[in-house]
Amino acid sequence: MRIGVIGTGVAGSLLLECLSDVPGFQLEGFERVAEGARDEAGTGLNICPNALKALRLYRPARHRALLEASLPWRRWFIDSATGERLFDLDLLEVAEDLGVRLRWSELYRLMREPVAACTKYGHELVALEEDAAGRLVPVFRVGGETVRHGGFDLLVAADGRYSQLRVLSAGEPVPEHHGIALTRLLVPDAADCPYDDYGQWFNGNNRLLSYRLPGGAVYIAGAFPIGVGADFTAEQKTAAHARAVYLPAEDEACPAVAWMVDQTCRLIDQVHWARLQVTPLRRGSADGRVLFLGDCAHAMVPTLGQGATQALEEGVLAAEVLKRGGGVAEIAALRDPRVSFIRAFSVAATDSMQPGADALALSRHKMQPEFLAKLRRAYTDVPEVV
Ligand SMILES: Cc1cc2nc3c(=O)[nH]c(=O)nc-3n(C[C@H](O)[C@H](O)[C@H](O)COP(=O)(O)OP(=O)(O)OC[C@H]3O[C@@H](n4cnc5c(N)ncnc54)[C@H](O)[C@@H]3O)c2cc1C
Repeated sequence: MRIGVIGTGVAGSLLLECLSDVPGFQLEGFERVAEGARDEAGTGLNICPNALKALRLYRPARHRALLEASLPWRRWFIDSATGERLFDLDLLEVAEDLGVRLRWSELYRLMREPVAACTKYGHELVALEEDAAGRLVPVFRVGGETVRHGGFDLLVAADGRYSQLRVLSAGEPVPEHHGIALTRLLVPDAADCPYDDYGQWFNGNNRLLSYRLPGGAVYIAGAFPIGVGADFTAEQKTAAHARAVYLPAEDEACPAVAWMVDQTCRLIDQVHWARLQVTPLRRGSADGRVLFLGDCAHAMVPTLGQGATQALEEGVLAAEVLKRGGGVAEIAALRDPRVSFIRAFSVAATDSMQPGADALALSRHKMQPEFLAKLRRAYTDVPEVV
């Protein structure tokens, strides 16, 4: 069976790796970026315990490599901008594994390295054709040239949130915007950072999220409401705006918030901007010749850090189904109910960032058994494929 994987980010690389040594599969990956590209645009990320569990069970070598390249994520706390503690959780109370935090570029390096030999870099998918046998033929732009590598029995769309293969095989999905601006910043040399593990800080509905990364760096993510359908303005991209939304108007900011706002103002030109949005869940093309994986299938809000986490879970589990002779329908049956739960849970957990919501009360409420039970389900419910 000849399988072409479009996009070797998180899900695509892992699927290729998991199937690379299975007899009967001929695998080829196609990636838009150049080999060894070290894009820091994503800055840092936290990967949740469920992805670590999936890797531990199904891909122990990748599990070890991920642990070595990262810092453990054990604690999650939420404070007000003045430093009042609202939520404090030891992840092992609701999980079997710790999570991890690492640089985005490190995750990509780690995932791509084992599959470099079967990946063609600098290949951007631009069109889709069919050969005489009815197999799909992806068409790539390579430099200024148009290139084809023949027909495939199955194409895997692992080309992310703005998947070209999803557009070409199933039409353009309409994203749902939630009216919240997201910023990401990497502070490379942060020896004076006054905290370590994963924290969130609320000033009204405006939220800062931050943690230390390997190598002395710190990741700072901001979020503030802008209104559904609105885009960011030039004024919102200024240091003055960062101070206005994250610093308390009347009281003194706690040292952590003061430090993050100082860093954001200092490095304001390096901040990356996005809007909180979801893409409708879809598992593949109607004819079953294209499988959608990761963000391509179900780009979700990043509130619970489940985007790359689900892409990792999905990479190993989809590979297990394919190994057993299953296809798009079987992967949908295994994955879609779980993905739907995770997506709905992530949107619900965004409640405290909605304008007018009482962010402090909602954050305290997350210590209640109902939220923790859902978190346990998210962090541990990784199925065994038989
Ligand atoms: C602000 C923000 C913060 C986030 N924080 C977290 C977090 O803390 N934890 C977490 O788990 N997740 C987080 N995520 C989500 C996470 O980044 C994604 O869910 C994850 O990267 C999805 O993996 P993927 O393999 O599906 O796609 P990607 O990692 O996006 O990989 C897609 C690959 O396809 C390639 N590609 C794209 N188009 C083409 C084309 N036409 N031809 C060939 N190749 C192509 C790309 O170059 C890339 O290599 C965050 C997302 C955002 C927006």
